[in-house]
Amino acid sequence: SDRVALGPLVGSIDQGTSSSRFLVFNAKTAELLSHHQVEIQQKFPKEGWVEQDPKEILKSVYECVERTCEKLQQLNIDITNIKAIGVSNQRETTVVWDKITGEPLYNAIVWLDLRTQSTVERLLKRIPGNNKSFFKFRTGLPLSTYFSAVKLRWLLDNVEEIRQAVDNGRAMFGTIDSWLIWCLTGGKNGGVHCTDVTNASRTMLFNIHSLDWDPELCQFFDIPMEILPKVRSSSEIYGLMKSGALTGVPISGCLGDQSAALVGQMCFQDGQAKNTYGTGCFLLCNTGQKSVFSEHGLLTTIAYKLGRDKPVCYALEGSVAIAGAVVRWLRDNLGIVKTSQEIEKLAAEVGTSYGCYFVPAFSGLYAPYWEPSARGIICGLTQFTNKNHIAFAALEAVCFQTREILDAMNKDCGIPLSQLQVDGGMTNNKVLMQLQSDILCIPVVKPSMPETTALGAAMAAGAAEGVGIWSLNPGDLTAVTCERFEPQINPEESEYRYARWKKAVMKSMGWET
Ligand code: ADP
Repeated sequence: SDRVALGPLVGSIDQGTSSSRFLVFNAKTAELLSHHQVEIQQKFPKEGWVEQDPKEILKSVYECVERTCEKLQQLNIDITNIKAIGVSNQRETTVVWDKITGEPLYNAIVWLDLRTQSTVERLLKRIPGNNKSFFKFRTGLPLSTYFSAVKLRWLLDNVEEIRQAVDNGRAMFGTIDSWLIWCLTGGKNGGVHCTDVTNASRTMLFNIHSLDWDPELCQFFDIPMEILPKVRSSSEIYGLMKSGALTGVPISGCLGDQSAALVGQMCFQDGQAKNTYGTGCFLLCNTGQKSVFSEHGLLTTIAYKLGRDKPVCYALEGSVAIAGAVVRWLRDNLGIVKTSQEIEKLAAEVGTSYGCYFVPAFSGLYAPYWEPSARGIICGLTQFTNKNHIAFAALEAVCFQTREILDAMNKDCGIPLSQLQVDGGMTNNKVLMQLQSDILCIPVVKPSMPETTALGAAMAAGAAEGVGIWSLNPGDLTAVTCERFEPQINPEESEYRYARWKKAVMKSMGWET
């Protein structure tokens, strides 16, 4: 049969909190040719604990790669045209494994996990003035349960097998990118132990100015430096696929998911921003080659470094822990919807929360509050409130949280954003997108190719030295808008609701002290 001639293709592994995906793009047109997705189990062994099985994650990635290749072959597309593979991943999630057996020594501790609250409190006591922002200049981050260093500290304190593996020189630490790249490039038989600067910048062990692990931070957290991966740029050949349908293809791009989305949304210019609505919600604004420090609860993080000799670019980030996760909670814990998509209809039927406010502080509150003691609340209930109003309030909560971040971003940057570029699983929900525009009082725009995270990692992979099938000329690249949502309510109405939301947030704080 005739093969379809397309030129070079690039694959992209997108390992998210709720699922793993593999997507294949046509390098010439950035068109998505085929993909496969597998949902990932999340374990909640104790209140506040969130774990995943690193082997299930790996297996899901292999399954996605194999199934996508089968689908391409059914389309008569020659998979030997896949010239490079990029990796983007859920950030901060922490894995420790044994390099001799190749086996994980504990489940992955997911970024949302709160078990390290007491670890954080203990560490805070050793910081002058108990100042959680003490390391912010060096790391861009406040001391919080969110970042990998405290999760790794917890593992070293609580898991005997990990302590022993460290003593015997057999332990390797990594975020999901490191775990995947090590396994995919051969694992215990010569796998490459590395990470990229964007993922490293989320550990709290990484100096975002020197672009290396910081010995003093490692000492503060008491982390043995020999278990850390080597830090590389986001675009270079790390190693080759060692098994499966794509054996021999270089893995040459690696970006934390939020950085990948920034690249995929073509936000290469200073001041360009995007908001991704997945399990959580993450607004990143490119600040170019200068690192900007927030006075309003935002993080300073590495946006990307697209090549060994290319400059590093920074971003200001507002992180919201719970966005899509609240919809999943309504599905799995309350059963008021059977699928995440159903919430749109439920909310649209009423078009208002009827004064009900839902603060989903399941994992404390992240930006701009950084308050681990907060817990979720639903307030303003009356006899009249029904599940539709609660569904609406859950969607509105995502929008209010974004508004808080955008306000902080505007204060830190000086120039207010005139529109918001969006992506992520939740942006399929048009009610949510309209509501977001109403709450922000600015237009919300969605690109025509919504798989921006995967595209960003693919672009990094295709642009790597030695691959060279994509040249990333920022001037040539702009996102194509497909959908645009304009504010439809008056700003006073929006302000009133936002003020009520803030009142609800105050009620959620200090609950778990
Ligand atoms: P992640 O990258 O964190 O794995 P995704 O971008 O794949 O997340 O988005 C999945 C999340 O979005 C899930 O939490 C799901 O509940 C939510 N979601 C997906 N589709 C919709 C929808 N139509 N309406 C509301 N929420 C949705």
